Parts: sequence; C-alpha cells; structure tokens
Amino acid sequence: PVDTNELGHSTWSLLHTIAAHYPAVPTRSRQRELQQFIYLFSELYPCENCAESFRKQLKRNAPDVTSGYSFSQWLCRMHNEVNCKLGKPVFDCTKVDERWKDGWKD
Ligand code: FAD
Repeated sequence: PVDTNELGHSTWSLLHTIAAHYPAVPTRSRQRELQQFIYLFSELYPCENCAESFRKQLKRNAPDVTSGYSFSQWLCRMHNEVNCKLGKPVFDCTKVDERWKDGWKD
C-alpha cells in the first residue's frame, strides 16, 4: 500500500527541487512542458484523494510557469493550502530558496 506521508514528503521534495532549478527566464517550450507536467502529475499522483483535491486547487489557481521565481512561489502557496488543510504550519514563502536551492544558513 502507498504511505501517503512518505510519498507526500518525497513528492514535495521533487516538486520544490524542480521549481528551484527551473530557469529564471524559461523558453516557451520549457513553460509548456512544466505546465503539462503539473497537469499530468495531478492525474497520475497515486493518492487519489490528494490528487483530486490538488486538481481542485489547480482549477482555482493555474500554475504560474512564467519564471523560476513565480513558479516557486506558486508551488509554495499550493503546498501551504495542503498544510492548512492538514493542520500543519504554514511555510514562509520568502524562505523557499533557502530551503530548496541554496541550503539553510547556520
Ligand atoms: P511535507 O508537507 O511533506 O513537507 C516536506 C518539507 O517541505 C517540510 O519539511 C518543509 O521543510 C517543506 N515545506 C513545507 N511547506 C512548504 C511550502 N509551502 N513551500 C515550500 N516548502 C515547504 N496528505 C493527506 O493526508 N491528505 C491530502 O489530501 C494530501 N494531499 C497532498 C497533495 C499533494 C499534491 C502532495 C504532494 C501531498 C499531499 N499530501 C496529502 C501529503 C502531505 O502534504 C505531506 O507530504 C505529508 O503529510 C507529510 O508531511 P511532512 O510533515 O513530512 O511535510
């Protein structure tokens, strides 16, 4: 059986890491690929309830693939909606690069 928490943790890592490495100025074809990836992901994600609520989120809030910054911020807001639903703390989206790209300063 699928462990929703473990799958979720790994998936958010993959998605935020993709966002962190997405170009600041993506080509048209790159933008189209990322948009298709997100919609296909929302169909294929192997936790049905999660996928269904993610598709509802996508309807309200289409992916912003126009730049690395806007996509990372969009994804952070989507993840925060899930955090809220699950009663988890809201993540500070100004810290997204520190967490997923540059690494925490210590
Ligand atoms: P996770 O939420 O997995 O987060 C991993 C790490 O990401 C955190 O430790 C933190 O460092 C960082 N982080 C947290 N918030 C943000 C943010 N906003 N932006 C950037 N980084 C952040 N579970 C359910 O029970 N029901 C659902 O309906 C559900 N829907 C999901 C939908 C999707 C698309 C995905 C990918 C997962 C879903 N999950 C759902 C799983 C859930 O979101 C968590 O992954 C799971 O509960 C494990 O939580 P976690 O505490 O390990 O942290």
